[in-house]
Amino acid sequence: MPFDYYRRLHQWQKRIYQQSDGIVKVELPCVEMLHDTVTALQRALEEEDRALIQRLSNQLAQGISHQLKIPTLQVKVLARRPSDDWGELHGLYEPAEKSGTARITVWMRTAKRKQVVAFKTYLRTLLHEMIHHIDYEYFRLRESFHTEGFYKRENYLFQSLTNSAKPSVPFQYELSLSSGQNK
Ligand SMILES: [Zn+2]
Repeated sequence: MPFDYYRRLHQWQKRIYQQSDGIVKVELPCVEMLHDTVTALQRALEEEDRALIQRLSNQLAQGISHQLKIPTLQVKVLARRPSDDWGELHGLYEPAEKSGTARITVWMRTAKRKQVVAFKTYLRTLLHEMIHHIDYEYFRLRESFHTEGFYKRENYLFQSLTNSAKPSVPFQYELSLSSGQNK
């Protein structure tokens, strides 16, 4: 925990910080329903199809929101990351204004080389911004801090969305063993 940062927080913020740090999972009831969207998103990134990346990113964000029964939001995919002395901006979350819709902005190209970002980086950025949304709308936190718990939730969501029904390595090993014995 960045101690100086924490020390400067108000008492009510410290309570939220502690609460946020204690939540390590985001469980989606039917996460496997979103695996096809994730696979299609990977392909769209490889093909550098911005319109399709945006459509699939919205589909994913809406699917997650729907499963958690929270208000949905809009994802905007822009081309080149903004950059400055502080570095590059990967993503941005804007909470809903009164009666409006929350919005996520993600960039699909790096600032320096203008390359399309790697799929895993893209997905992690999108999910990072989704966790901010989930913090506010699902966990009802008044602020969304970058706590260790926050990154664990982000990672948990990433893992559950990318772990398809493929057999794991030990399982494949077992299969090849038994086919060997049958020879
Ligand atoms: Zn953030």
